[in-house]
Amino acid sequence: MDRILIDRDRIRGRVEEIGREITAVYGDCLDGLVIVPVLAGSIIFLADLIRTLPFKMKISVMTVSRYRGATTTGGATQFVHDLTLDIKGRHVLIVDDILDSGTTLRMVTAQLRERGPASLRTCVLLRKTARAPKDLTADFVGFDIEDSFVVGYGLDYDGHYRNWPDIAVLRPELYQ
Ligand code: 5GP
Ligand code: MG
Repeated sequence: MDRILIDRDRIRGRVEEIGREITAVYGDCLDGLVIVPVLAGSIIFLADLIRTLPFKMKISVMTVSRYRGATTTGGATQFVHDLTLDIKGRHVLIVDDILDSGTTLRMVTAQLRERGPASLRTCVLLRKTARAPKDLTADFVGFDIEDSFVVGYGLDYDGHYRNWPDIAVLRPELYQ
């Protein structure tokens, strides 16, 4: 690790705040919310976030994969595992780990919108402000961060470090 960017206490505090922001939007939805986490990077965030939500909800997972080198650049995004739940007429919230170039969120949003949800919003733990496209934003954002490659709290480097409790910047010489 190079350094800790966001420690576990800050993460916990912000996740609780996002939970309140989400509750303000969906708390009165009588038929509940369908949360669609984009695996695997969002798992830790998802687990913490949903326990702050005091209303009816279901989870339906989706897996996308970016075939890239180990880090952020290049590679096509494709579905590996699609939802099993019918989201037509449902309120849907996509949860992802990080909004970087926006390719993943754009693709997932477009796919789900075609299925006719009653509403569709997005929530990301992290957003790289320098890289995220101006025309694509998330409805709920945990933290805006610098353009460094980060790991921990669900985020991986080549499959590793998801279990680290803090969000850290990886030493560039490890992946360049
Ligand atoms: P995008 O499609 O927005 O360019 O990239 C989003 C996906 O790339 C994220 O869901 C995540 O899987 C991966 N990604 C982008 N930046 C980082 C990063 O700094 N660290 C890690 N571990 N994954 C990243
Ligand atoms: Mg991802």
